[in-house]
Amino acid sequence: MKVLACDGIDPAAVKRIREAGHEVTEAKGLAAPDLLTALRGVHGLLVRSATKVTADVLAGAPDLKVVVRAGTGLDNVDRAAAEARGVIVRNTPNANSVSVAEITFAMLLALERHIADAAADLRAGRWEKTRYQGRELSGRTLGVIGFGRIGQEVAKRARAFGMHVLAYDPVVTSGPADCEWVRHVGRDTLLAESDVVTLHVPLTDDTRHSLSTRELALLKRDAVLVNASRGGVVDEVALHAALVGGRLRAAAIDVFEKEPAPADHPLLALPNVLPLPHLGASTGEAQRRAGMDAAEALLEVLAQLSPR
Ligand code: NAD
Repeated sequence: MKVLACDGIDPAAVKRIREAGHEVTEAKGLAAPDLLTALRGVHGLLVRSATKVTADVLAGAPDLKVVVRAGTGLDNVDRAAAEARGVIVRNTPNANSVSVAEITFAMLLALERHIADAAADLRAGRWEKTRYQGRELSGRTLGVIGFGRIGQEVAKRARAFGMHVLAYDPVVTSGPADCEWVRHVGRDTLLAESDVVTLHVPLTDDTRHSLSTRELALLKRDAVLVNASRGGVVDEVALHAALVGGRLRAAAIDVFEKEPAPADHPLLALPNVLPLPHLGASTGEAQRRAGMDAAEALLEVLAQLSPR
């Protein structure tokens, strides 16, 4: 069968699909109409995040049977349109969890020890030894909103740093077994009691702007926020106001409502914001894992379509 692999899928994944007997074409930077041309006769489509699999794209690709996103979210695939056309959609939910949990701590430690500013000063010839007094994580309380795969990985690492962990998740309300030391609380309690709040929820109608003026007002004035989930979960206007008004001490942000974030985005101008360009899953390990998981998911569906 014919497969189109977009956005730079890991080479080992492409090799795996070819070795299974399928014809793979690789492409980068395709949008309609070129994407539609490339999809002629294609049964399986592999994407990361750049390719937008819209309703129009799905309508223009009558041979397409399966779309696999190498990554966690499915924001770039119109799932409803795919379902309506009988196109199977898969993702690779486990591939990025460790990388995102690790970047959460990379951001938090960088924020609390002024790593980026101190390095920039030193490169500019300034040896600022006394300016950058930081804070330890040990003994402080981390509030994890969204206690799924990534939230739980974050909690385990927080324990190693000597932090107390609170969690809020409407579905995961206790445990699990390897996190039985986590205290599950209501969301407002978590916001009021945490020194650090970290978000690990999907972007849905329920979670969009779920951290806005009211919720930010519940935080300790000395609290910091880390967002490596999705940009739209936080109301950026309310966050900006909280950071400028001293309602929140600092924030580390890997994800923005509109990506790429424009250079004049107000949050980028604030000294108490550590911004990153959506790097959570950008590790060799996560990309290789996502590629291989995507290849296996694709092969599984193709095998069901044409049993040998
Ligand atoms: P998951 O599905 O395993 O866990 C998400 C959890 O959030 C679930 O347990 C769910 O019950 C909970 N949840 C849903 N609505 C909630 C709400 N209103 N309040 C509290 N909890 C709620 O997902 P995951 O793999 O842990 O991923 C979490 C997030 O991380 C997703 O938004 C994903 O898109 C994002 N992510 C970001 C990057 C990055 O590069 N920064 C990479 C991968 C994933």
